Amino acid sequence: MSKKQFKSESKRLLDLMINSIYTHKEIFLREIISNASDAIDKLCFISLTDDKVGMSRSDFNIQIKADKENRILTITDNGIGMDKDDLENNLGTIASSGSYKFKNEMQEKQDDIDIIGQFGVGFYSAFMVAKEITVNTKKYGSDTAYCWQSSGADGYSISEIEKDTVGTEIILKIKDNTEDENYDEFLEQYRLKSLVKKYSDYIRYPILMDMTKSKVKEETKDSDKPEYEDYTETETLNSMVPIWQRRKKDVEQEEYDNFYKEKFMSMDKPLRTIVTSVEGVVTYKALLFIPEKAPYDYYTKEYKKGLQLYSSGVLIMDNCEELLPEHFRFVKGIVDSSDLSLNISREMLQHDRHLITIAQNIEKKIKNELNAMLTGERENYEKFFNAFGRQIKYGVVSDYGMHKQELQNLLMFYSSTEKKLVTLDEYVDRMKEEQKFIYYAMGENAAAIDNLPQTELIRSKGYEMLYCTEEVDEFTLQTLMQYKEKTFCSANNDDLGIENEESKDEENDSTAILTFVKETLGDKVAEVVASKKLVSHPVLLTAKGGISFEMERYFNAVQPEAGMKAQRVLELNMNHNAVKTMTSLVETDIEKAKKYAEVLYSQALLIAGLPLENPSEYTDLICSLI
Ligand code: ADP
Repeated sequence: MSKKQFKSESKRLLDLMINSIYTHKEIFLREIISNASDAIDKLCFISLTDDKVGMSRSDFNIQIKADKENRILTITDNGIGMDKDDLENNLGTIASSGSYKFKNEMQEKQDDIDIIGQFGVGFYSAFMVAKEITVNTKKYGSDTAYCWQSSGADGYSISEIEKDTVGTEIILKIKDNTEDENYDEFLEQYRLKSLVKKYSDYIRYPILMDMTKSKVKEETKDSDKPEYEDYTETETLNSMVPIWQRRKKDVEQEEYDNFYKEKFMSMDKPLRTIVTSVEGVVTYKALLFIPEKAPYDYYTKEYKKGLQLYSSGVLIMDNCEELLPEHFRFVKGIVDSSDLSLNISREMLQHDRHLITIAQNIEKKIKNELNAMLTGERENYEKFFNAFGRQIKYGVVSDYGMHKQELQNLLMFYSSTEKKLVTLDEYVDRMKEEQKFIYYAMGENAAAIDNLPQTELIRSKGYEMLYCTEEVDEFTLQTLMQYKEKTFCSANNDDLGIENEESKDEENDSTAILTFVKETLGDKVAEVVASKKLVSHPVLLTAKGGISFEMERYFNAVQPEAGMKAQRVLELNMNHNAVKTMTSLVETDIEKAKKYAEVLYSQALLIAGLPLENPSEYTDLICSLI
């Protein structure tokens, strides 16, 4: 029988496992049992529609056998089993989802040991305790059974064997004790029992083990010196009650955390755990989690939203998308309802009225929990918002703003006066008496926005401003239009609702110079006006009409052929020396005055973050003035 080599990524994982100094080696049992349970899930599901399986739900189980003398631990399941290809693909390479993800995260973090603990690494973790692993398995529907064997890094072999029953048997040859490590514990029945309780209690199939117990010999029962004898009893080690079926008060948060990590392959604890039990028009239990961090693929097409769906404890769909609205697609969890038929097809299920009602309830529940988090656990809510705030904003914008009422008070923006994330409620509560609008400004970051000339007047009045640093921010506020009857106003708007008394009087005197600049610049600008906003800067470019510069930039990036252009309004600060000089030049040196107008316009473009129409012309212009 020839030895095959592991794929190189697998090898790396293997090395890590074999030489692991990780102290919680015990998690290997959880991983093996979880695989066994998944395998049973698969066959159990087939048995619902295929009589040939010949098994009912109560026939499925997982068995653990510890042979202390020979240092062998065996875990047997009567699940779907594996054929030769499965063995090659699943155990010979690292293609399986869980392990692959592990590898990626490991590369990011470089903190191997910690990752084993938090994440678990599937089948390979057995090499932390075993010097040799044998997998005897027969797949449902296949005539041939196979044996996969490996003692680690030197590769693995696969051969045909005789095996009557469908399912898988994992045989671990437990390592010998060393000076520092004691592996005997993984052969001790009470230790194994406690490990099952700790990690695998909610597994929905019985985990059976023959326990050797001792009792008083019948015939010595009444004597002064009773004698004892051993007997064997098969015990079901797990309570089998899924964690979501237990009452919240009976479950420790740590148990929820562990369940979450294992089920959803997460390294982090959930930020919030939501447990609900509903009886009435529909009956269901749901256990939902709000993650702390966005998965690396969250904002890509790869990420699949959905909740696991069970019908009375039997998994019927791994990712039921219909249970979650798009704007809460970050939620993870499970729903178990006795109202759903097991034999219903996926297509039918999508239109099932029970399912629709459950989805509506769940949406409300998540909304309420987020609100509760916002008022009661501010720090956690901010963590949540940093990870998934963008999703909430997309939610406001999408479907023509259909969900905006529901989502608006979950929004947060960075505030210019508070220097932290604030809600719209908080902003409105703080508004000054005479303040008409909720102000916001767009830019790369807070510092860049503070340097924008158009924010100067707002800041000088002491009004709070919301910083919009993400593309979606402006769309979000424009979709909302108002919050609590206060209208949103961009710092770029020509009317900021702030009277600047001095500039009013000057308006008439400045008509001549404004006309001059407009004529000089021609079509480049739609209008030239005396600014009511500028305090220390000479010029400012604002947009007139519905299209802002941010939109111009955005659409030019995604749809350049449309040639979308915002209408430019050049605002001049009539009190600024540069503008005053230009005004006097009109009388004395009109050509130079024209150059000044061009320079000021170019500067306004630069400040607005827009490209110069002709950079070399601009440079020549400046040089001609120096
Ligand atoms: P993961 O469970 O994260 O996919 P593992 O390394 O634990 O990764 O397992 C790899 C794959 O091997 C599983 O996805 C499954 O397809 C297969 N497998 C492991 N154990 C069993 C088993 N007892 N019965 C059937 N298939 C199994």
